[in-house]
Amino acid sequence: MPLATMTSVLREAQKGRYAVPAFNVCTNEHIDCVFDVSLKLRTPVIIAIHPVEIAFFGMKEITRVIQSRAETHPYPVVMHLDHGDSYDTAVQCMVHGFTSVMFDGSTLPLEENIAHTREIVKAARAAGVSVEAELGLVGGTEGDAYAHTDGFSDDQLTDPETAVEFIKQTGADSLAVAIGTAHGFYQGEPRIDVDRLMEIRKRVEVPLVLHGGSGISDTMIQTVIQEGICKINISSEFKRAYHQGLTDAMEGHPDVWDPIILYPEAKQHAKQLLKEKFELFGSVNQA
Ligand SMILES: [Zn+2]
Repeated sequence: MPLATMTSVLREAQKGRYAVPAFNVCTNEHIDCVFDVSLKLRTPVIIAIHPVEIAFFGMKEITRVIQSRAETHPYPVVMHLDHGDSYDTAVQCMVHGFTSVMFDGSTLPLEENIAHTREIVKAARAAGVSVEAELGLVGGTEGDAYAHTDGFSDDQLTDPETAVEFIKQTGADSLAVAIGTAHGFYQGEPRIDVDRLMEIRKRVEVPLVLHGGSGISDTMIQTVIQEGICKINISSEFKRAYHQGLTDAMEGHPDVWDPIILYPEAKQHAKQLLKEKFELFGSVNQA
């Protein structure tokens, strides 16, 4: 089927009270894993691609691979720009067929974040593309090995009242909230501010997104889904699982150098992790 917009997928998740994982990909094998598991479990999925991952794979190349896989895939797949940093990046992605773009203006002063997000929403509306915006600080950046868990001060986290105004002024379709998560692996237990999430949920109607989903306890994941999160980003955990699978395969067959033998074992390992995430998030059989 054609690629789905993020709004269509997340609105269903909101109704059904489950979350759809967004898995970051940067190789053909990652993409294979996501499609294979989605097919097996009949689940919608979001394929997230960060600008660094686009540069690594090539814009034309990665979008063509995903589009052609999606054409014969029976369940909704969203091709989503993760942490877009500018209007130009967002528009370039729309031109190349992304059905969803994130603009991350969270490090900008509020007024600038609003102005840039609004401009991107305007272009995205014309293109039929969904927009995710971010308000507040999710620690670290994509690709960080370890997330810091020292906690965040109140003014770094998403303020519920500001979130109302932000959505009203920007028209963003979904909102990434800062409630104590960070990118990369946690070295201790992160302090997730569930009360804050509940306050945001009460006031803001658009689907809410959690970044920094790698390594959060299963119980906490279930709690945040219950309280209104319907998209959770997983990057580090997925890539680590693939890498671990590849390492094991190479150690298991020290004389083998052929990807035809090694890669399927690596994929098997990564797919097991994806399966666990889909099950935990409740999206199995929802497509
Ligand atoms: Zn993120």
